[in-house]
Amino acid sequence: MSAVVVACDLDRTLIYSAAALRLGGDDEQAPAMTVAEVFEGEPVSFWTRDAEEMIGDLVEAAWFVPTTTRTRKQYARVRFPEPGPRYAVTSNGGHILVDGEPCADWTATVHARLGECAPLAEVVEHLRVVAEQPWVRKHRVAEDLFTYLVVHRDLLPPTFVDDLTAWCAARGWTVSLQGRKVYCVPAPLTKSAAVAEVAQRVGADLTFAAGDSLLDADLLVAADRAFRPAHGELHEAGWQTPHLTVTRRAGVAGGEEIVARLLAAVRAQAAASGARGAAGVPGATVDAVAGS
Ligand SMILES: [Mg+2]
Repeated sequence: MSAVVVACDLDRTLIYSAAALRLGGDDEQAPAMTVAEVFEGEPVSFWTRDAEEMIGDLVEAAWFVPTTTRTRKQYARVRFPEPGPRYAVTSNGGHILVDGEPCADWTATVHARLGECAPLAEVVEHLRVVAEQPWVRKHRVAEDLFTYLVVHRDLLPPTFVDDLTAWCAARGWTVSLQGRKVYCVPAPLTKSAAVAEVAQRVGADLTFAAGDSLLDADLLVAADRAFRPAHGELHEAGWQTPHLTVTRRAGVAGGEEIVARLLAAVRAQAAASGARGAAGVPGATVDAVAGS
């Protein structure tokens, strides 16, 4: 049986805050957009109307797995077209949700792996030292798994992220700067491990992935095909890996391009499987690619 998992990051890959849209200067050329998330009564995240429609197609054509560093609560605010994805990975791989409910056995596995690096409390305490600085807006601990600062990006001291990265690396932790957030995440807590678990559970033999930040790098490397937008942390670093496609466009239009490319890749895979099936390769059929 042939099936594909499509693991897709959310923020600045699939959905975009107003500040991240990059609509360009011509209002009449701006794409039609819909609201993907409401927070405290305000629309805060968007995708293009075409992207939203294609996500519905992806859910039908593959195992579409939103794969995010968001906590479960933050993830629950994102409104996918009905019926929505069956599986999701949240908390940077800390939770696998099935129909919105976390898998307890996966959570236990993750917590066991966190013994390989410095404890959360040590990193939280390290960040607490800067928490009162004028460039720090908030200091948060996410689901007892990792910690992050919300900062005024333009006031961020120039060496802060590099210094923090070195300090964390010595303790088995990873640092990622995304928009206004500086994340400190245990190195064993990865999106790729959780997505591999989902792929095994659904019997998928291929994984396609998309993401824009350092916390997506392991996911993109592990995938059979990978996509990233022409903006964000990885783009600014000129990050590459074999089998990676970078979008032509940036901002919310780049997000739409990623969804279109993922859908095309799934359909091409289905067609190829169908052709091989017709040629007598056992188990490879177009129907089998429809995962949900
Ligand atoms: Mg992202």
